[in-house]
Amino acid sequence: MLIHSGTIITPTEEKGADIFIEDGIIKAEDGGSQETIMIDATGLLVFPGFIDCHVHFRDPGLTDKADMKTESKAARFAGVTTVCEMPNTIPATVSITALKDKIKKSEQITDCDMRFFFGATRAEHLSELKILWTDSKYSTLKEKCCGLKVFFDHSTGDQGAGKEVIKEAFKLCNELKIPLVAHCEDPEINNAAADSVEGDDISLHSEMRPPEAEEKSIKDAIGLVREYGTAFHVAHLSTAKGLDLIRQAKKDGLPITCEVTPHHLFLSTDQYKYSGTLVKMNPPLRSESDRHALWEGIKDGTVDCISTDHAPHTLEEKEVTPTLSAPSGMPGVETMIPLLLTAAHEEAISYADILRCCFTSPNSIFNLGKEEIAEGNMADIVIIDPNEKWTLKKEDLLTKCGWSPFTETKMTGRVKHVLLARDSVAL
Ligand SMILES: [Zn+2]
Repeated sequence: MLIHSGTIITPTEEKGADIFIEDGIIKAEDGGSQETIMIDATGLLVFPGFIDCHVHFRDPGLTDKADMKTESKAARFAGVTTVCEMPNTIPATVSITALKDKIKKSEQITDCDMRFFFGATRAEHLSELKILWTDSKYSTLKEKCCGLKVFFDHSTGDQGAGKEVIKEAFKLCNELKIPLVAHCEDPEINNAAADSVEGDDISLHSEMRPPEAEEKSIKDAIGLVREYGTAFHVAHLSTAKGLDLIRQAKKDGLPITCEVTPHHLFLSTDQYKYSGTLVKMNPPLRSESDRHALWEGIKDGTVDCISTDHAPHTLEEKEVTPTLSAPSGMPGVETMIPLLLTAAHEEAISYADILRCCFTSPNSIFNLGKEEIAEGNMADIVIIDPNEKWTLKKEDLLTKCGWSPFTETKMTGRVKHVLLARDSVAL
């Protein structure tokens, strides 16, 4: 196959070049194969397949909301070829058996490379993780496990862990060099805030989970990083104060990284009046000033990753009264790259930062072993028209839940082809 005359986005440059692919391997020159399929990429951008390091595909156990097959198809269609899936399924991924079952199921999935986080709410879950990491008979399962996820507060799936388990997690992950991710919200601050709020306006959700809860929780986590030296990743960072703490921790040389979601980048508390319960998620939508701070965090490199926290629910589940009883979470895997390309068109983000936040950093933080576009590599390849204008339509969505607060958004920039190294098949 020949990808002709595209602009390849690399960490250091944008370069025009032809790419030849033979048996999934990238070649700089034509190897002389007779039947070359050509994609004319003149005026198009060529990226490695994007990584979404935070998704909930709800499979097994919650497949009325989503399943591996539907969501991986949606992901690929929007340029995401690798996902890291969270443990709050039914059963939760807190045992080697549960992990094994998920991996087995994912072997049927051809649209995405699925990796899985292990979860822990109790000490015995950490013991299982230790066995997974150290017993060589589990080495193939370990390869598909991208790290440990803990929740500092209860969220969907009731995965909140106590303080002792959290400490043990930091200790174990440092000992075995397991990537550790946490949902950082302080439960006491959230509980007190929830108690002080009255009424059933959906916008109260943001007041019931105030920025101070995230700030306190990240502060505690940084304390644990200092104590144990663990490489630690903050999931879906949403506040300016949390970002400032991470900025300082990085300056202090601590091994801390973070991700932000498209919904916290593109939406603020103003969105409740348009989207109601559809934009109820945890951590909740924040103020415009928090939102702007996250964009600054991308520009100055404090933000390492952009990931979606893709967390679908059915429309029926979302459309309930009282509105505050609606489940938290929204889909995102299908809209992340289009939204970021649109932002790039408006010069709010560079292509280099899209590459860094949606490929290079998640790839290295979670040891995913994905290859960039270079001679000799087996890279997944996404070809993008940066100038195509289109509108996201509800009927075109591929996620099983079939809704997104971003429908009717006018986008600039569209994924045109997705080539997976392992099958070299065009979309
Ligand atoms: Zn999540």
